[in-house]
Amino acid sequence: MSILKYREREYSYHRGETILEALLRQKVDLSYGCKQGICQTCLLRSNINPPDYAQINLTKNQRFNNCFLACQWRPEEDISLVPVESQGFVNAGVVSKSLLSQDVLRLTLEFHKPFEFHAGQFVNLKKSEKVIRSYSIASTPNHSNTAEFHIRLFNNGQFSQWAFNELALGDVIPVSEPKGNCIYSSEYTDESLLLIGTGTGLAPLLGIVTDALEHGHSGRIHLFHGSHYSEGLYLNTELNQLSEKYGNFCYTGCVSREESAAFFRGRANDKAFSQYPDLKGWRVFVCGNPEMVKVSQKLAFLNGASCGHIFSDAFVLNR
Ligand SMILES: Cc1cc2nc3c(=O)[nH]c(=O)nc-3n(C[C@H](O)[C@H](O)[C@H](O)COP(=O)(O)OP(=O)(O)OC[C@H]3O[C@@H](n4cnc5c(N)ncnc54)[C@H](O)[C@@H]3O)c2cc1C
Repeated sequence: MSILKYREREYSYHRGETILEALLRQKVDLSYGCKQGICQTCLLRSNINPPDYAQINLTKNQRFNNCFLACQWRPEEDISLVPVESQGFVNAGVVSKSLLSQDVLRLTLEFHKPFEFHAGQFVNLKKSEKVIRSYSIASTPNHSNTAEFHIRLFNNGQFSQWAFNELALGDVIPVSEPKGNCIYSSEYTDESLLLIGTGTGLAPLLGIVTDALEHGHSGRIHLFHGSHYSEGLYLNTELNQLSEKYGNFCYTGCVSREESAAFFRGRANDKAFSQYPDLKGWRVFVCGNPEMVKVSQKLAFLNGASCGHIFSDAFVLNR
């Protein structure tokens, strides 16, 4: 057994646990989110160099300062831990709420100054110190003061139920700095882009598609959006209109559990990879259901996309 020192106290550490598991086991009041090394809510700092696997996707500065993700590190020695005080949360006001479908809320937040991010990034939204959830930005980075989110309603979902039923216009909510590498860059302008999303996995892909088209992307772009039922293919009218406006953009809505004249019958990733068996030179973006993301990363690679050209955000739940 080793010892973790945190805020002047010592805690036991059993081999094999993550630091987060060890501290939560001993009832330490620590913020955390996805527990899968994605949301970065459980960021801490240590007195020794953390291993690379506990610093994935951290900035150079954070890595240099021994910051690490507590949900990832399984140390083998005694460590002193320091909280990372500011995680760049700023307040934003709710300026609009509307339904995109029965169970998807479009939420627009307004900041005091332009909110800078890359198309496709996500932020952490804080309901309380204990309920912090990641949401992808669906709007484009146009130096405006607003950002838009698509939030799916979960039965008993702590954040989503609150966002649907209690959060009101004018309310203020803390928003983290933008995070994530599933992003569009103007360097890709003449490359082919394949985008696959399920459910609200459409949100970051919508940001990427809109940003690419607004920047005169000349390569081809094909977006596949999947849902069990056609009701879940929200924004399909707008996406079809976009494909009529831009000759290089194509949209395919896919429903897996019902027949529909308007949409393809089947899974979005199955359809995408059978339609594009050769992805050499393509950039592939996959967002939404974690299982779908995992399978698609593999298939994109097997279909010829290089590892560095496959970007993804798995919408893992906080369990
Ligand atoms: C990088 C990233 C980006 C994301 N982007 C988006 C986005 O753009 N839009 C979006 O809608 N979501 C997104 N998510 C998912 C989002 O962060 C939340 O996980 C999701 O909204 C559910 O949060 P909640 O608080 O409403 O539900 P939670 O309270 O977290 O619960 C989720 C569901 O799990 C059940 N549950 C909870 N705990 C347990 C348990 N122990 N055992 C069994 N069931 C349990 C609950 O009843 C509920 O049905 C993203 C996630 C990540 C990691």
